[in-house]
Amino acid sequence: MAIEIKEIQKFERIGAHSHIKGLGLDENLRALDVADGLVGQKKAREAAGVIVRMIKSGKMAGKGILIAGPPGTGKTAIAVAISKELGKDIPFVQVSASEFYSAEMKKTEALIQAMRKAIGVRIKERRFVLEGEVVGLDYNMVPNPYNPTQKIPESATLTLATKDEKRTFTVSGRLALQFLYQGIEVGDVIMIDKETGRIVKLGKSERAKKYDIGEETVEVPSGRIEKEKEFTYVVTLHDLDEANARRRGGLFSLFEPVSKEIDSEVREAVDEQVKRWVEEGRAELIPGVLFIDETHLMDIELFAFMNRAMESEMAPIIILASNRGFAKIRGTDIVSPHGIPLDLLDRLLIITTEPYSREEIKKIIEIRADESKIKLSEEALEMLTDLGEKNSLRYAVQLLAPAYELAKLRNSDKIEVEDVKKASELFVDVSQSSSYLKKWEEKMLA
Ligand code: ATP
Repeated sequence: MAIEIKEIQKFERIGAHSHIKGLGLDENLRALDVADGLVGQKKAREAAGVIVRMIKSGKMAGKGILIAGPPGTGKTAIAVAISKELGKDIPFVQVSASEFYSAEMKKTEALIQAMRKAIGVRIKERRFVLEGEVVGLDYNMVPNPYNPTQKIPESATLTLATKDEKRTFTVSGRLALQFLYQGIEVGDVIMIDKETGRIVKLGKSERAKKYDIGEETVEVPSGRIEKEKEFTYVVTLHDLDEANARRRGGLFSLFEPVSKEIDSEVREAVDEQVKRWVEEGRAELIPGVLFIDETHLMDIELFAFMNRAMESEMAPIIILASNRGFAKIRGTDIVSPHGIPLDLLDRLLIITTEPYSREEIKKIIEIRADESKIKLSEEALEMLTDLGEKNSLRYAVQLLAPAYELAKLRNSDKIEVEDVKKASELFVDVSQSSSYLKKWEEKMLA
């Protein structure tokens, strides 16, 4: 069974944490005040550092992590830092436990999909490609048989050149259409995967660049146009599950929505295939991090399922986050710490996070502004820090972007107090917006 490969999607939602490069620890695992984009929260970072060592030496198998702390104290930030310490391209998947409950699929299915999105497979492959600069491209256009008012390419003649060779190819209609869609033109340096027909535009040649500004210039390759190249892809187990499910479903399933339940048979076949690849040295498993926020929303069934799944050799590193003290375990009348069943708690190493000091809030805002290349005056920074202290750090950080837009409206590239003030009037913190609606609801009910 061959499995289709698609490139890994960029992990969403972690843009807010793009400034975090690691845990910021020295060689003795001591936290530096400000390092790797992280500020304060030293105890949590040092604990996380020990956990990273345990993961790397295989001592966390079957165990998980719980980060407990008030909202907005950097639980997500610490989890992102842990994943950064584990490796550059390891998957990081963030879900809120509330997302497990949907009409689309069973909750346990949603959980297993999230877990499989958090496991990467690095695949090495040699493939035949054509690579060179496009020096000639002529389409042979004919009327579309389904819509004669429109013309489509029946074929095309493509001339590619490297520094040492020039060759002309006849391109099929299907591939020619891809050239049109991707706007490939003379002067582009491209690569075509001979097996899949995928075209990748690598950039513009130095020569073509003179006429066209705004695109990256790349060197025209030397050597043969047709050659074997080694590719390394990272896909997730979930990508492979989906691709495999689609293949089995036949052509029609191409038109069905992708996100739905996947048969356990499909998963078993993928697991077997991946194991075989690993044995043959063609692939490597890269367990990533599954970060589950608002853990108290998980119910007893999900917990039981997760407990079992954590035993599997194909389990990601699971980091739970909780801002609750004691809570009822959903689906039961049992009250337990963080609303987590005791048998799961036994498997968890627990880290706590603490509220930030004013100085820390200020430093984090500064780092975020820097990361987004936003300038701000000292007074504006002070005001944002006030808002961070009074409302939440997240609110203060989120105000940076609208305040910057307001600054630009004044033809300035620097945020001043007036921009922060205006932004904070226009946008409210979530605690304000929810209490506003609560008052409104009370009025309606009265
Ligand atoms: P939690 O998960 O506990 O709610 P969070 O990690 O989501 O907290 P936010 O309150 O959303 O934290 O943080 C707002 C911004 O501040 C984010 O960009 C986050 O990366 C950043 N941040 C939070 N804690 C730190 C920290 N200790 N060092 C640097 N940046 C941080």
